[in-house]
Amino acid sequence: MDYIREIAEKLIKANFAVVLTGAGISTGSGIPDFRGPQGIWRVYDPNLFHISYFYENPLDTWKLFKDNMYEKIKDAKPNRAHYSLARLEELNIIKAVITQNIDNLHQKAGSKKVIELHGNMKFAICTQCNRKFDIETAFKEVKENKVPLCPYCGGLLKPDVIFFGEPLPQKELREAFELASESDLFLVLGSSLAVSPANQLPIIAKSNGADLIIINMGETEIDNYADIKVEGRVEDIFPKICKKIEEMIASL
Ligand code: NAD
Repeated sequence: MDYIREIAEKLIKANFAVVLTGAGISTGSGIPDFRGPQGIWRVYDPNLFHISYFYENPLDTWKLFKDNMYEKIKDAKPNRAHYSLARLEELNIIKAVITQNIDNLHQKAGSKKVIELHGNMKFAICTQCNRKFDIETAFKEVKENKVPLCPYCGGLLKPDVIFFGEPLPQKELREAFELASESDLFLVLGSSLAVSPANQLPIIAKSNGADLIIINMGETEIDNYADIKVEGRVEDIFPKICKKIEEMIASL
């Protein structure tokens, strides 16, 4: 278990540690990932999540989100990995969490600085005026078999998550790239790192001199760049690192 101490020491020494999380951090909360053995892609055709499919079949897509995705996410609770990240932010050990997840679990766990690259299932967004609404407002329409429309401009509402074929939100993306460039330690938790541009962030951090640590069950696309790669469940491993950090700080 030497790597627990080694990672704890690196985190304590770091001046600007940044974390990137993926769907793997939330499987322990009962939310399936995309590409793992129980992944969503084994059940659904990825084309259903393409933006052109949404514009052609908005009601179908809304129903899919409501009855499948949202039902799995809305009552999910953060697990020990989410809470450990919130605790390390409180201790000023990590500066920010960049997430590809749309499940809101970092915020539920108490993390304050969370950059969401792929949106958040809590909201619906107007595709014309960009106003945001509680997603439940849109679901009321969907339940009545109506395509949800913006009450202000009449535009089509869309779940506020990034579909395939859509650009990422520019402000969040810029901030994520700045954080990665500034970091001296970049930690990836539970991501296959198969999705661009999020998978560029660890490479940018690394090329600017940061240590790169990856904790994931299974290979990632950039394991060969990592200074430390730990194989296993993040909700088992990361709380141990957090505990070690607390012990080390207490003994200083
Ligand atoms: P991914 O599904 O591509 O990869 C997840 C990785 O985590 C896999 O390598 C898997 O083996 C690993 N993993 C699964 N359980 C783990 C655990 N307990 N501990 C450690 N590793 C574990 O997910 P990704 O890389 O985050 O892909 C990004 C896409 O998935 C994004 O577009 C994101 O929006 C979307 N997504 C989000 C959620 C969510 O919000 N929770 C769920 C599914 C998909």
